[in-house]
Amino acid sequence: MSLTELSAAELLQRLRSGEVSATDAAKACLDRIEQVNDRVNAIVRVDRAKVLEDAGKVDQKRAAGQPVGALAGLPVVVKDLLCTQGEPTTCGSRMLRDFSPPYDATAVAKLRSADGVILGKANLDEFAMGGSTESSIFGPTRNPWDTSRVAGGSSGGSAAAVAASLAPLAIGTDTGGSIRQPAGLCGITGLKPTYGRISRYGLIAFASSLDQIGPMAHSAEDCALLLEVLAGHDPRDATSVDRPVPQYRESLITPLKGLKLGVVKDHFGAGLDEEVAAAVERAIDVYRSLGAEIRDVALPHGRYGVATYYVIAPCEASSNLARYEGVHYGYRTDEGQLLAELDAERKQLLAAGDKRAAENLDTALVRMYRKSRSEGFGPEVKRRIMLGTYALSAGYYDAYYVKALKVRRLIRQDFDRAFEQVDLIVGPVTPSTAFKIGEKTNDPLAMYREDLYTVTANLAGIAGIAFPCGQSKAGLPIGVQLQSPPFQEETLLRAAHQFQMATDWHKRRPALEK
Ligand code: GLN
Repeated sequence: MSLTELSAAELLQRLRSGEVSATDAAKACLDRIEQVNDRVNAIVRVDRAKVLEDAGKVDQKRAAGQPVGALAGLPVVVKDLLCTQGEPTTCGSRMLRDFSPPYDATAVAKLRSADGVILGKANLDEFAMGGSTESSIFGPTRNPWDTSRVAGGSSGGSAAAVAASLAPLAIGTDTGGSIRQPAGLCGITGLKPTYGRISRYGLIAFASSLDQIGPMAHSAEDCALLLEVLAGHDPRDATSVDRPVPQYRESLITPLKGLKLGVVKDHFGAGLDEEVAAAVERAIDVYRSLGAEIRDVALPHGRYGVATYYVIAPCEASSNLARYEGVHYGYRTDEGQLLAELDAERKQLLAAGDKRAAENLDTALVRMYRKSRSEGFGPEVKRRIMLGTYALSAGYYDAYYVKALKVRRLIRQDFDRAFEQVDLIVGPVTPSTAFKIGEKTNDPLAMYREDLYTVTANLAGIAGIAFPCGQSKAGLPIGVQLQSPPFQEETLLRAAHQFQMATDWHKRRPALEK
């Protein structure tokens, strides 16, 4: 078996025993990227020399007998929305194409101090707004199981990188499903931790009350390893929670006997593909055989999740993205051209005798803001900014934003009640398997419906994990999702791990040959 096909836990063992060096692991991944990345377009930037230099440092540490961090030279891919000091961090947007942050995100700094080797930056939907990784300036990421299909999004690059064995570990972000949905569609494991579990410092904001960073890997065990490194309080993020970080790997082997799993009838209703439903039902049977008790629970406001999310997320986005005005940083329109256009317009108006209109033309500054933004952002980002600005405007604030906040509270209360009866909730991740590239690009509502089963966790601030539980007749991965009360990542990871001990879906790799 080649090094790149190993799980992170397996590779870690070899790194720790000295059988494999960090440089060997980095080289194997770099070679694999060279061979197959152009087929999937998962990784958008690799600096080979820097990667080898970083891996070499870990090897030197070990050679000098110094203690080596928890990741011991494991290669990790980072979604291109987390700041990496001195290296471009683009958000997949023209707006930030040339932006290199002067600091590392806390999650990135933690990776480095645990001796993880950052292999490269992963593709994403522009500013993480989307569910297919098609809107990036770098072009679409393709699903390693069928390259005519999407990898999901917005962390599609991270998911495809792991699925295609370009890297054993990846970091994604999840605002409404962006870790779990691509994990489900690419046949890997992805965890959205509780809001506040991982610092968001240096994560370029999309919707601040919903965004959360999380691990993506082949298995729950690998996610546990990465979560241990990433989690914890950070004085630089006031929303990060000051609670001890459990040793997630230690409880993985505790059997599930007596665990109460909730099933929500509404999750199996109209809109769910039959093959997906059948695979999730079989996953529930596996849990039954592992000693879990299955109970029905209700989340009556869940059906308002997508509508609520698509008010709140755009509102927050419109505010967060106001900072890109072409002045402080980011894309700025060609000012020479702008001034020439303004001049020409003024002259034309004066020649037509319309002195008033000529005097009332927008100033060059206002035009610069407007043009920079209209050229720097893509269509989906603009749509969100307009939706959010509208919903927050004086006349509509109560009708949309405030109302959405109220429904958000009801969604959270549904979960609170359900979790009085069960430990976890089990259900689908997405309504169907991976769709064709281009299939939903002209139908934003169809794209938004992808988020049916995932957005409620973000609205409620709870945790969720997605992992593979089957395959469609066409050979595409099918995922299952578990959700837990806040800060119960231990139970989530344990339940996913126990499933993976009993099945081998997570061990399958796509035949992505050249
Ligand atoms: N698909 C959702 C959206 O477009 C979720 C994105 C995310 O989680 N970043 O907003």
